[in-house]
Amino acid sequence: MQLDLMELLLEGKGGAQFQEYMERYLDAKYGSRFERTTENGRKGDGGKDGYIYDSKHYFAISSRSDFKRKITFDFFNCVTKNHDVRKFTYVTNRALPTAYAEVVNRLRGIYPTISVEVLTHYTIAREIFDFPKKQIEKILNRDVDISRDNSIYFAENEDESESFTFREAIKDSIHWYTLLIIICVVVGVLFYFLHFNEQVWGIAMMGLFVFLVLYLILFGKGIKKTKFPHKILYLICSGKLPVGGEIIFNEAIHRSIHRNSMWNFTFYKRSVSCVKRGCTGKVYLYDHEEETYIGKCERDPVNHTYTVDRNFYGNLNC
Ligand SMILES: [Zn+2]
Repeated sequence: MQLDLMELLLEGKGGAQFQEYMERYLDAKYGSRFERTTENGRKGDGGKDGYIYDSKHYFAISSRSDFKRKITFDFFNCVTKNHDVRKFTYVTNRALPTAYAEVVNRLRGIYPTISVEVLTHYTIAREIFDFPKKQIEKILNRDVDISRDNSIYFAENEDESESFTFREAIKDSIHWYTLLIIICVVVGVLFYFLHFNEQVWGIAMMGLFVFLVLYLILFGKGIKKTKFPHKILYLICSGKLPVGGEIIFNEAIHRSIHRNSMWNFTFYKRSVSCVKRGCTGKVYLYDHEEETYIGKCERDPVNHTYTVDRNFYGNLNC
């Protein structure tokens, strides 16, 4: 189900059915604070269909098309029959909020201390759409297949997450650092003895190459495990990775790092399926601006892009 369908569905409800839908919506929105009037068998009594006692907020629900007359009637009925009304909300699936502006202003003029608002099915559909699926199904009283067309969440791939301490990160990176140091030393020595003739250079280079191949064969797995603790240390010291925070660590392999506690971390791989119509690609995260990431689809990284917040929720850029 998409948003426009939700609007149509609410628009199509009339009378008692619209009332029931809206009561379930208000239940979902306000929980036990919202008290229905209809449950007490006093439907329509006191110009209200429900209220929130602690905030003195009253609701009138109506799908009648003569809305100007109905909202005025319900409002006056409510303020005369209830004590200390602070907010009055007229819930309707007729017309746009702008159509009510005039009548709402008039009522506000008469009772300036009462906040008057009109809630139409457009706003309500949008709010319902953001509820969890179970709650939506409860409000609509049926199973739904929700497709929040343009919004996505980059979930972590459980199989590819890895937790470790800083000490383990160093241990896992020994082979990588050793290799780096050896290469630096060999190259350094060779440059120091630049006066060597070409033959010596050739032999030395060949020796280095053979060494590298052997090293990779022997310690390849170890090198792969490296966690670049120096980079982690840099992120900590620069304040980019506070406890509880998560940032992209390596774009090329789509790896992000979460700092669980002072010296405890988890690598995640986050991705989501592209929601562009007809596309089956995976979307991965890339650094963008201070406050946002950019999600790029592997199939079309130029046209299928997403603006993603730091909590990994994103929207398709149209
Ligand atoms: Zn795509």
